[in-house]
Amino acid sequence: MNFSHSYKNLGPAFYQTARPQSPAQPQLLLWNAPLAESLGLAALSHDASLAARYFSGAEVPGTAEPVALAYAGHQFGYFNPQLGDGRAHLLGELSTRDGRLLELQLKGSGQTLFSRRGDGRCALKPAVREFIMSEALHALGVPTTRALCVVTTGEPVYRERVNPGAVVTRVASSHIRVGTFEYFASRGDATSLSQLLDYAIARHYPHLDARADDRAVQFLSEVMQRQIHLVCEWLRIGFIHGVMNTDNTAISGETIDFGPCAMMGVYDPKTVFSSIDEQGRYALGNQARIVHWNMARLAEALMALDSSAEQTAQFQTVIDSFQQRFDQHYLAMYRRKLGLIDEQEGDSALLAGLLELMQQHRLDYCQIFAALTEQPESLPSVLQGWQNRWQQRLGDNRESLQQSRALMRAANPLVIPRNHHVEAVLAECEASLTNTAVEQFLQVLRSPYIETEHTAKFQSLPEDGDVGYQTFCGT
Ligand code: AMP
Ligand code: MG
Ligand code: MG
Repeated sequence: MNFSHSYKNLGPAFYQTARPQSPAQPQLLLWNAPLAESLGLAALSHDASLAARYFSGAEVPGTAEPVALAYAGHQFGYFNPQLGDGRAHLLGELSTRDGRLLELQLKGSGQTLFSRRGDGRCALKPAVREFIMSEALHALGVPTTRALCVVTTGEPVYRERVNPGAVVTRVASSHIRVGTFEYFASRGDATSLSQLLDYAIARHYPHLDARADDRAVQFLSEVMQRQIHLVCEWLRIGFIHGVMNTDNTAISGETIDFGPCAMMGVYDPKTVFSSIDEQGRYALGNQARIVHWNMARLAEALMALDSSAEQTAQFQTVIDSFQQRFDQHYLAMYRRKLGLIDEQEGDSALLAGLLELMQQHRLDYCQIFAALTEQPESLPSVLQGWQNRWQQRLGDNRESLQQSRALMRAANPLVIPRNHHVEAVLAECEASLTNTAVEQFLQVLRSPYIETEHTAKFQSLPEDGDVGYQTFCGT
């Protein structure tokens, strides 16, 4: 396993050297064979015990040089100048066969200098949740970090109860966050900040001119566009991230950190499930506002490089363009869900009408859009009036209805990782310490737009409508 270390090579200000803890009894529980293959790790698909040692901390694979990354972040609106990887070890970067550079990181692999009061561990359920949710998002077409494997450690993890421990290996295009920029800005380390900016541009936005005077402004604008796309994609499928702190906002535009995430069932922008989010700061419908806020924090951090009046005004212009850019992307996304090929004045009102009815009558978001796509005749009668308007609008399309349906089929999944199914599968996995239930679930989630053998099983709605459902950061 031939790791490169371009991020680590930025210098010691960016990380702390940290050795993963060797677990008592590493055992491979989940393995992402297609992802392994794309990383050139296909041989490990046939050697579960070696894979378990490599991806648990028992053995450092190949040329890996484990480090814990330094970053800061705004958590629930409050700045913490030093967070960093408290339970994660970056192994290094691997090149995919199609030439992309991806980072492999162990999570749950023991304490580091950034652990503060944390134990450096990860329980089995959140590790498996990350595997399931990231794989589901990837198949749904949402930008996301992925999971290569989950290894159980054979060691207990103490939370409210005793849990089996696990290590999940995350694969990301990088682990640079808004909080990484904040880290150097808050320390007044302009040299590292500038280095980070150059690196982030080269790695994620290579089309930008890294020597331009306004490179930081251009960078902010591009990061913002990817974040707008990301949130619109979350809204397309009803994903609630749950903890959109600036340390969990990746510069690459990938979804990262699956701690308290959940899916919305009944349509309601106020939906929030995270036990620690009492104010609903990270509720489904707040996610756009929060990304806007997070981008303003990125702008502030970048201003540590140049806070001239001219530069400040340029940053402000980018930040002020958020709402207009978001609204445009948002409507384009919903046009696809509604099968609208061209653009018309009344589209926004048509969409608002549907969302209002769904909220008022407590209808399931994913199910309604799937029905709209496949069997509009099966929609509930409360939507009849709206449906007539929609059908009239579709009739206006220059293109054929066939094309509209193709558009909708690609935007409206038949199945999503519904909370009650995720919980049932996690419970079964924890009880049996086998992958059977997870793999069956994944098989369905990996084809979310196509009916497969077990799709129906995972389409069912929760009997209690997810009332009282709660997610947690670290259990
Ligand atoms: P998160 O809310 O998952 O983004 O984590 C916020 C911060 O807490 C990061 O710096 C993590 O590394 C750290 N952290 C979370 N859980 C633990 C743990 N069990 N042990 C040590 N650090 C942790
Ligand atoms: Mg995090
Ligand atoms: Mg987390």
